[in-house]
Amino acid sequence: MSSSGRVRLTDVPAPEYAFGYRVPPRSGNEINGLGDPKQQQARHVFHSAGDVRLDWQALDDFFGLISSWRVLRHVITNAWQLRNWDGPVAAARCPVEDRRAMAEKIKEMAQGLGAELVGISEVTNDVVYEGRSISLRYAVCLGLSMDRTETQHVPHVRAAVEVMRAYREASRIAIRLARNIRKMGWPARAYGNPNSTDILHIPLAINAGIGQLGKHGSMINETLGSNFRLAAVLTDLPLVCDEPVDIGVDDLCLQCQRCVIDCPPDAIFQHKQLVRGVEKWYVDFDKCIPYFTKTHGCAICIEVCPWSVPGRGPALSQKLLAKRAMRP
Ligand code: SF4
Ligand code: SF4
Repeated sequence: MSSSGRVRLTDVPAPEYAFGYRVPPRSGNEINGLGDPKQQQARHVFHSAGDVRLDWQALDDFFGLISSWRVLRHVITNAWQLRNWDGPVAAARCPVEDRRAMAEKIKEMAQGLGAELVGISEVTNDVVYEGRSISLRYAVCLGLSMDRTETQHVPHVRAAVEVMRAYREASRIAIRLARNIRKMGWPARAYGNPNSTDILHIPLAINAGIGQLGKHGSMINETLGSNFRLAAVLTDLPLVCDEPVDIGVDDLCLQCQRCVIDCPPDAIFQHKQLVRGVEKWYVDFDKCIPYFTKTHGCAICIEVCPWSVPGRGPALSQKLLAKRAMRP
């Protein structure tokens, strides 16, 4: 990392592969609905919970096979703890007279358990994968920062270990929060990444006001940039939802090229794309995922993003919004 907090990339592998499909799978972009004008639910392409065989399953299996033991121990611990994602609900139900006060209480509880970012959104159809059904109404979205001393080592194993540690820790917080809500007599389930295959964590967290989508296809939060990982608790506990935020992400992404230039397989589109009926930032799945697999999760794009420089986000947001306000 430079003295300015920017990540310096070293020994970046070339986008050439020692593996390949005898019969190439259907394009992940097609499965994701790239260019499709119809609004519809997302379909799984990569990362499954093991209950369905996906088009890109072989590459997902390979991703697991070449993982370092240091990464795998977090993955296994995470999977093991997530067996407690749900559980018995206390018979006596705590009445909720003030949803707003309850939302504040839950946020404080989540922060007390270690979450750095907390927001609440409604579970709508567009944040649930096709073929899955969710009966719980609210999502308490949780974000946890990663240690930049470790993540600056993208795209190498050292950074991947930190990513999986953060996922494991975020799941632990979600499991404890869900348990606390069930003790209050309301159903609640913890959803930890990366294999929580019912819901789309990023759109849920965007609706919950945690951040905005960047050109690199990941979320950007005002204080943590993209240097964080998500988990969620779904519940019927009556709560007030948060609103999406505008911190100026589009203003910068429309001019910035950092992630586009640094992405080894050129997977990041310069402009927003039509994806399942919505114009949004999108990463070329077919180019990104083979490189992502080869490099244990890559993540170059999120670490080189200026928003991820520690302490930079709030001033950057202020400047971008002020510039916008001055435009005729
Ligand atoms: S994670 Fe994907 S999009 Fe991001 S830099 Fe790596 S290959 Fe490119
Ligand atoms: S690196 Fe630049 S273009 Fe890419 S997401 Fe960050 S601000 Fe946007």
